[in-house]
Parts: sequence; C-alpha cells; structure tokens
Amino acid sequence: MIGHSASATDPGRRRRRNEDAFVCEPPLYAIADGMGGARAGEIASRLAAAAVREGGGEGGPEERVRTLIQEANARVHQRANEDSSASGMGTTMTVALVEEGRVTIGHVGDSRAYLLRGGVLEQLTDDHSLVGELVRSGKLSPEEAESHPQRSVITRVLGTEPDVDVDTFSVATRPGDVFLLSSDGLSSMVADEAIGSTLGRHRGDLDAAARALVDAANRNGGEDNITVVLFELAARLGDTAELPPAPVGPERADDEDTLSGLDAVPAADEIAVGWDPGADSYEPAAVPGGPRRRRLLVASLVFLALLAAASLLALWGLSRAHFVGAESDGHVAVYQGLPYDVAGVRLYRSVYVSRLLAAQLSQRERRSLFDHDLIGQRSALREVKSLEAEVIP
Ligand code: MG
Repeated sequence: MIGHSASATDPGRRRRRNEDAFVCEPPLYAIADGMGGARAGEIASRLAAAAVREGGGEGGPEERVRTLIQEANARVHQRANEDSSASGMGTTMTVALVEEGRVTIGHVGDSRAYLLRGGVLEQLTDDHSLVGELVRSGKLSPEEAESHPQRSVITRVLGTEPDVDVDTFSVATRPGDVFLLSSDGLSSMVADEAIGSTLGRHRGDLDAAARALVDAANRNGGEDNITVVLFELAARLGDTAELPPAPVGPERADDEDTLSGLDAVPAADEIAVGWDPGADSYEPAAVPGGPRRRRLLVASLVFLALLAAASLLALWGLSRAHFVGAESDGHVAVYQGLPYDVAGVRLYRSVYVSRLLAAQLSQRERRSLFDHDLIGQRSALREVKSLEAEVIP
C-alpha cells in the first residue's frame, strides 16, 4: 500500500514564472513541464495536469495511463490550434499510477521517474531528448550528456501533434520503495548520485526530502523550474517512519570518478601539454648559466610558436566544422564549431535556424540528423532543408 506522498515546486533562480505543474493525488501522480512563448508553457502544463486529474479511463493500468496522456495531449493540441498566442506550446508528461502491487508509468518528454530501492537510485524512464537519444545510440557518454549545451532540447512532447507516442511500463513494487517524479530542473542541476544520497538522508521524512531536492537544485544554479513528487510503498501499516535510512548506492559513484565532464574538452589542451619541449631541458633555476638560460629561452619560444600554430589550426578546424543540433526551443539548427561548452564558453554558433522542430521528426529521422558528426556547412544545410521540404506542409 502507499505510504506517505510529498511534493515541492519552485520557479528556480533564473525564471520568473513556474511552467511546471504536478498531480499528487494518491494513487495517481504526475509531472508536466510546459514550454512555449509568453505564458503558453504554463497553460500547456496546467491543461495536461488537469486532464490527468479528471480522467478516468478503462482497461488495465498501462492502457489507462496511456489514455490519460492521450487525453492530455488532445486538450493541449486543441488549445494550441484555437489560440494563436498558445500556438506551438507543448509539455512533457510523466504519470505514475499505483495499483495492486505495481506502479505503472506513462511517459513523454524529459521529465523523469526514478526508483530508490535498497539505497540504490535507478532512472526508470528514457529521456526523450536530443542527448538522451545520442546516449542510447552510443554517440555520447552519460557524463558528456550531463554537460552538453543542448541537453534541454526535447524530441517528444505533448501538444504539438494530434497523436503522441507514449512509453508505458509497470514496476512490481516492494515495501520500502520510494518513487520520485521530477522535472528536468532537478535532473539538469543535481546528479543522480546526489539525488540518491539526498533521498537516503531524508528517507524518514519525504516532505523534508522534497524540499532538500529543490534546495540542492537551487544551490547548483536553479536554472529552470524545479518540481518533485515523491511517494513510498509502506512496509506495514503505520511503520514507514521506522525504516532505517538506506545506504546510498556505491556502484554509481564509481563511474562518476572514472569519467568527468573534462573528457568533453577537445584536443587543444592535450596539444599544449604534449608539445612542451621545455620539459626535457628544464632544470632547477639554482644553477645559473648563460648557455642554459639561452637554451631555455629558445625552447620557450619554440613552445610558444607551436602553441600559436596549434591554436590557429584549432580555429581553422572550428571554422570548417559544422554539425546539426537544435535550439533550446526545439528548432532544428546548423551550427559552426564543435558541440561542446568549455568552462562555460560555447565552441559553436548557429548559422541557420530552421522552422522545423526536433519533435516533428520521426525517431529515425532524428537519429540520422543529430548524429553528432562534424560535416561541411553545405551538407549540413542540405540535410536540414531536405527534411524541411518533407516535413513542413
Ligand atoms: Mg524544465
């Protein structure tokens, strides 16, 4: 049976409005993260949450959850078509329904459902995002995805099409399980390990856990609206608070150490280190001497010249390299440069922004378009424009 439930939502530190909405009405839980100009994102997420709250549906739990999300999609899509100020709006939607020893999840977008079991946090949903698809196809490591400049671009969304493809699945529950639904304002600011350890620390008080997760996202920058919904499966009637605080999963912490965001830094730094010819001839300065000093000077000059050459080569490469990605509002775009941020500096700029939305493409089309390969500007533009001709009526 369901134990405690808790929720928290916060606009974060950068946004004035909160475009997230949620449902926390046991046995039904949901998160919606809206997007669109003006107040359209707010309208979309609230419409979707209301549809889930009101919806009944028939059949088995997966079918009911799918029906709820389809109904939410239909309402958002209809409103977007009727109201020109809301045109193009959309929302993510992740629903959890608890019933007879199972939690059934329905999911569209990049909000997430997690399960904390035995102290280990597991992400249950796939992110329907550009970087999520690149990770699943092996083009990006999960660590690269966490710092990818286009990590907020989603590829499947409610409201932009009359029908939406919904992921559904069920998880058999165990007493003591804690489920977490969250918007990307949490997962983009707080690593899974930290989410797991925060939940573990506040295992006995889900309200405190929800607040602590929001606080952690704000401490790390709070760049987006943050919403969390938590519920637990009680061990026995009334004894949920006595569950021991769960230890935090050690195996995930291990991969974190082996790969860091620095792996995404391109070769310029490595060139600089590898080409240090001063390393051989350099000796403690305690021994002064004309020839030695001259050698050192020459070596330094050679080093600087090589560094300048490497930088020019890198700049030349950057000016030639193009890749296809998408803007944060979902519009497909062609970029010049490399698809990375280094110390907060973008190594790319957009040279063409299409009317085409990433979410309008089929998964196969997205896979071939957003393959992360570096190509010439002309072929990048050709790829995007031929899809525009096919997809945009
Ligand atoms: Mg968001």
